[in-house]
Amino acid sequence: MFLPSFLVVLVLAALVVASDFYKILDVHKSASDKDIRTAYKRLSKKYHPDKNKDPGAENRFVDIARAYEVLSDPTKRQIYDRHGEEGLKAHEGGQNQPNPFDVFSNFFGGQHQQQVRRGPSSLTEFEVSLADIYQGASIDFMIKKRILCDHCRGSGAASDGDIHTCTGCNGAGVKLVKQQIFPGMFAQSQVTCNECSGRGKVIKKVCPHCHGHKVVDHTAHYTLEVTPGMPEGHEVVFEGEADESPDWEPGNVVLRVRSKKEKGGWRRKETSLYWKETIGVDEALLGFERNITLLDGSNLELKRKGVTQPGFVQVIKGEGMPSFGRRDVKGDLFVEYNVVLPVEVSPELRRKLTDAFRQPSSTHDEL
Ligand SMILES: [Zn+2]
Ligand SMILES: [Zn+2]
Repeated sequence: MFLPSFLVVLVLAALVVASDFYKILDVHKSASDKDIRTAYKRLSKKYHPDKNKDPGAENRFVDIARAYEVLSDPTKRQIYDRHGEEGLKAHEGGQNQPNPFDVFSNFFGGQHQQQVRRGPSSLTEFEVSLADIYQGASIDFMIKKRILCDHCRGSGAASDGDIHTCTGCNGAGVKLVKQQIFPGMFAQSQVTCNECSGRGKVIKKVCPHCHGHKVVDHTAHYTLEVTPGMPEGHEVVFEGEADESPDWEPGNVVLRVRSKKEKGGWRRKETSLYWKETIGVDEALLGFERNITLLDGSNLELKRKGVTQPGFVQVIKGEGMPSFGRRDVKGDLFVEYNVVLPVEVSPELRRKLTDAFRQPSSTHDEL
């Protein structure tokens, strides 16, 4: 009984040695921090033993946590890239690796949440035509932003070998300086290291791609999905798409959707739509049938019998803006009538109108 189990242990050990953290997270060796976070987010949920009851899921979960723990830490990742897992173990010097469940709960904001520095978010007012809000639309747009330099992965150095521990502070980022307060009396104080600006590291040769700035300008393309009936001022969040920096997790790009002011055309208030229709005096008096073009290009027949007063508002149920999230339920359409009078009245028409309107006592008008 002893021998077979011993063999199993050997086989497992061999597997562990061969593990490739990049493969485990299913990312490329040049993956950005964000790629690694995204991969961890996806895989850790998929293999969490609470959800995934497949045999082996728990082992996968543990491996995924370990891979993430290493690759999300710039120092550990660098050591791993250069010296493999053995080198990393030497570096960790038998320190306990974090519990994979802690890694998971930290990542998803559990009780001991890590303090992640967030970069600034951006808020942009984004104008959309009412027709797009009525029907829904996919609108492509671009944003100029800064992204981590893909050549140096945000280190600012030409290669990993060009990053050296600062000799001024031995990597501590601070220096102890002796200051003379009175003759013969010294005080020791801690100041930020001037040679590395407190980073603890100095770069001997800067990255030729970003000139050591760590980030580069980039034009990113996105698509805004406008859902029918999207409320005025609705905010659409593109998570983690703001400026990147090695010092923070990028903030969000937020678009605040507004409808474009359209001259003399449609107006919208929540799910109500407003339209002004101009009719002639004959139509105002005698009634009419006419078509208007709705925001999706379809026609709607307006019909009135009898007299329509100037400023009269006709309510057409269910022809307004779709409700947000329930496009089949629409608000109402309010059509306000504007009556135009003719600029001139011909003598003949004048006679007829006089006949029509002033029949009993019209004679004195026709001198
Ligand atoms: Zn660079
Ligand atoms: Zn220093």
